[in-house]
Amino acid sequence: MAPLKLAVVGGGPSSFYVASRLLSLLPQTSVRGENLRVHMYDRLWAPHGLVRYGVAPDHPEVKNCTHKFDQAAMDPRFRFFGNIHVGARPSTIIPHARSISLSSLAPHYTHLLFATGCTVPTFHPALPASDLVVPALSFVHWYTQHPSRPRIPSLEKIEHVTLIGQGNVSLDVARILLTSPSVLEKYDVPETVLEILRRSAVKHVSIVGRRGPLEAAFTVKELREMMNLSEASMVPLDPSLLEPPPDTKLNRQQTRTLQLLRKGSVNEHGKTPKTWSLDFFRSPTGLAPPSPSSPAANLTLAHTSLDSSNHAIPTGQTSTLATNLVVTSLGHRSDPTQEFYDPALAHLRTLSGRVVSAEGHVVRNVYASGWAAMGAKGVLASTMMDAYAVADTILSDQFPDAAEGEGVQTTHAPARGAEGVLEDAVEGLGLGKDVDLENVPEEVERGVMEGEVTQYGDWKRVDEEEVRRGEVLGKERERMGWEEAREFLRKA
Ligand code: NAP
Repeated sequence: MAPLKLAVVGGGPSSFYVASRLLSLLPQTSVRGENLRVHMYDRLWAPHGLVRYGVAPDHPEVKNCTHKFDQAAMDPRFRFFGNIHVGARPSTIIPHARSISLSSLAPHYTHLLFATGCTVPTFHPALPASDLVVPALSFVHWYTQHPSRPRIPSLEKIEHVTLIGQGNVSLDVARILLTSPSVLEKYDVPETVLEILRRSAVKHVSIVGRRGPLEAAFTVKELREMMNLSEASMVPLDPSLLEPPPDTKLNRQQTRTLQLLRKGSVNEHGKTPKTWSLDFFRSPTGLAPPSPSSPAANLTLAHTSLDSSNHAIPTGQTSTLATNLVVTSLGHRSDPTQEFYDPALAHLRTLSGRVVSAEGHVVRNVYASGWAAMGAKGVLASTMMDAYAVADTILSDQFPDAAEGEGVQTTHAPARGAEGVLEDAVEGLGLGKDVDLENVPEEVERGVMEGEVTQYGDWKRVDEEEVRRGEVLGKERERMGWEEAREFLRKA
């Protein structure tokens, strides 16, 4: 039986969902299952990607999926290697990560899955990064204590923050800035972050979008959470914004968004210590730094309307907004230096989960899942369904003749008609054929021996300790950074 030994690059949710599905569809007791191995590599020392380092701390229920990930990791055919960056050059983002090139990794495996996500924030052409302009991702990585350890401007001196973009990440950042630390302190928010939030001077958050309420990218649940903030209120909107154009058929999301916006925030505007606003039909064109005559920076906003294709176009009018900090939250792209990255797509080129070369051929036994394959959109439930489909595609490609009941299921796989694309498939990356199922590259083995590369058992020890430390403080958990975790594991 030909082995299926899969290396997964990236240890986030889509990666775990693919692994979990493969391991459960090919049970260890089956012949195919005996020949299955899944080895996951992540440049971060802790697993779970966006679930640990992206989900907002006041959404703890979203993290319940880690129970399923733990279950997959308990399978003896699964291994996790953290703090190891797969790439030609060492990671500049995680300097302490060991590195291994793809060409050194590939010969040890028969199959490869890129689950590397979309890790690069999109910038606005009019707002290059500076002391006054930071991406929302830096905020998210700050409050989740991501190993890249971004610096954020001192909140002690910032009264007015402007978020550009009206997606859920934007609302996450706004909510954290506007929620009282006394509410946040029971969650998974590091003490260092809470200390800064306690000293924060933020009084108002403007959330700027280039289109209108019907086109806003945020979802109803996140908007409702903003409306219910205990210490903040929304600046009422101009009622004309809440009237849909005549003959517009609204979908459920649009209807509920308008209902919520009409109702406004639970707290009346003007009666709370903090406020926020949704500034629709505005698009930034430039930022003038503070000057002796103007202690705040001045953000110039072009007023916009929608063309017949619902794109934002400038009306010719502009206005300025005095602000202390601009946070851009415009979505994310995959790392453009990555193999198979397509700049037009902003993620990897794929066809039903199979990676595609620049010439348009499927690359044999190379796959991608999650945001690396689909772009930075969708919530965990949709990531799970896409990942299951990729797992099914891997299996149907590997076992094209499997009869029903042979442990290979293709209910999720959009793999029908795959024969054609597979006939034209090209070899790539130097994957092995007759590989040793248990073997891992020598540099990985060495990293494990030296305590620089983590395994899932290490993570579980840290996880337990973080929860224990959290209990002492009356909160969900108190996180460790890499240095602390490494020291803890050495002693353990
Ligand atoms: P997003 O949902 O794609 O939102 C991006 C926002 O940026 C949109 O408002 C978009 O406006 C705007 N934008 C993009 N380019 C722009 C430009 N050049 N000028 C002005 N505005 C621009 O991205 P995200 O917030 O990063 O979220 C990514 C995914 O993760 C989403 O699917 C989201 O739902 C999910 N997520 C979910 C949760 C949750 O469930 N709580 C939390 C975080 C993230 P246009 O629409 O006009 O392009």
